[in-house]
Amino acid sequence: MAKAVSCPCGETIKADTDDELVRLVQAHGKAVHNQEVSREDALSMAQPAD
Ligand SMILES: [Zn+2]
Repeated sequence: MAKAVSCPCGETIKADTDDELVRLVQAHGKAVHNQEVSREDALSMAQPAD
């Protein structure tokens, strides 16, 4: 099932797998917020998406 993370900055990051979602959230955190995001944090922010 696809999952999505709504970043506080307004960006929505969506992916089909946990691994992909974590990778995208980590890349976004680093590029946009200069912040390291752990796998646990990325997945804890994830919500089901269609
Ligand atoms: Zn953001």
